[in-house]
Amino acid sequence: MAKEKVTFNVDKEKNFSDWYSEIVKKAELGDMRYNIKGFIVFQPWSVLSMEKMYGCLEEVLQEKGHKPYWYPVVIPEKNFLEEKDHVKGFAPEVFWVTETGAGEKLEERMALRPTSETAFYQMFAIWIRSYNDLPFKTYQRAQVFRYETKATRPFLRSREFHWIESHNAFASKQDALKQAEEDMQTTKEVLFEKFCIPFIFFERPQWDKFPGAEFTFASDSMMPDGKVIQLPSTHIISQKFTKAFNVKFTDENGKENFCWTTCYGPAVSRIFAAMISIHGDNKGLIFPFSVAPVQTAIVPIYTEKNKEKVLGEAEKIRKELKKKGISSEVDLTGKTMGEKFYFWEMKGVPFRIELGEKELKEKKATVFTRHSGKKTKEKISDLAGFILKEGKNQMKFLQEKANKNFDKVIAEADSFEKAKKVLKEGKIVKADFCGISMESYPCAEKVEKELNANIRGSRFPEKEKAKGNCIACGKKAEKVVYIAKSY
Ligand SMILES: [Zn+2]
Repeated sequence: MAKEKVTFNVDKEKNFSDWYSEIVKKAELGDMRYNIKGFIVFQPWSVLSMEKMYGCLEEVLQEKGHKPYWYPVVIPEKNFLEEKDHVKGFAPEVFWVTETGAGEKLEERMALRPTSETAFYQMFAIWIRSYNDLPFKTYQRAQVFRYETKATRPFLRSREFHWIESHNAFASKQDALKQAEEDMQTTKEVLFEKFCIPFIFFERPQWDKFPGAEFTFASDSMMPDGKVIQLPSTHIISQKFTKAFNVKFTDENGKENFCWTTCYGPAVSRIFAAMISIHGDNKGLIFPFSVAPVQTAIVPIYTEKNKEKVLGEAEKIRKELKKKGISSEVDLTGKTMGEKFYFWEMKGVPFRIELGEKELKEKKATVFTRHSGKKTKEKISDLAGFILKEGKNQMKFLQEKANKNFDKVIAEADSFEKAKKVLKEGKIVKADFCGISMESYPCAEKVEKELNANIRGSRFPEKEKAKGNCIACGKKAEKVVYIAKSY
């Protein structure tokens, strides 16, 4: 077969930024040419995968007792102004709806939701009556809108993003904190086990929490360019909001109390960005088997003479795989064989089945495995069995590889000098620090100024004991923190 021109070949290690921009275009993940700045069109190849990602997340959330809701996309200004820290945090990014098509001003401005606490809580106040209603666990899948002023990048930062927001109410602070631990577990079950993304779960410093929250916990993963990316976060909203929205319950003794609330926000579009960045290589994408838009590409090899027979067999295989829950697509394009191979490799399909006269005769198809580059002959009668087994192996391989790479990028430092060196190598600094309450804020400022990086927090729920002194002020350290450059 004639060698085809290479359609994708960007060195990811050397130039991750170019790799990312190129693959978004080449694999047709998202199109930035939509004519409103900061908004993109999500194309089938990303939508199909993100649908599966939503599926994984929703399945686990429902399993843990969260019920799905669909809230309006607009929030009245009155709700929005109820909690002052929240307003301060979000106000500059809000899109306001102010008038009708007839040019009439609306009586009250409405916000396109930037996040939906203030929508959920006003209904919580109506629905929650007694301790019997608690815990009250909800979620919705939704798009949210924030007027980002920083440069936008597809899936990573845009003015509209796709996420799940889970809002929950509890009888006590203890229950709320337990929910944060459950969210960490959910993150592990989905992000690591299904999307093969390693992460560290942190308690964020007090100066870096969600506007209106008492504590923020968040998972950070590592992008190939040495910057960390925040993936799902959980916030203990405490009673500030429930007091503002009057979300009360009557306890066993008939006494009225304010609820404690939490929210958990896995941003699917952002997680998608991290996933493709972590797993891809110089030939293009590599999708974890569980969330690949298409899990198997079937490439029929035929001449005019045997076309009908080969295509018939290919379609039979596709249907057989579908029965076993494997998504596949028969490549019927007029491209050359080489072009087809490159195309599916670039698209990151985990398996490619080649099927021609020879294969039909032998009753064995040639199967190419994307992540290992191996080609094997497999019985046509049991292609599904092979793919399901190897699909599991692929996930394990991606998990281990990503884990290994992640471990390699954490390095301890006990001075700014050393920390600078670690950060320059594109790594995360692990260091002793005086604390993560507001009292340590001056030390955090010093880190930001001198290292041009920030304190991501200390590990949660497990704790690491500090042995030395704060890297910034030299006082006895209370916490072990991680310092990194971030997205
Ligand atoms: Zn300090």
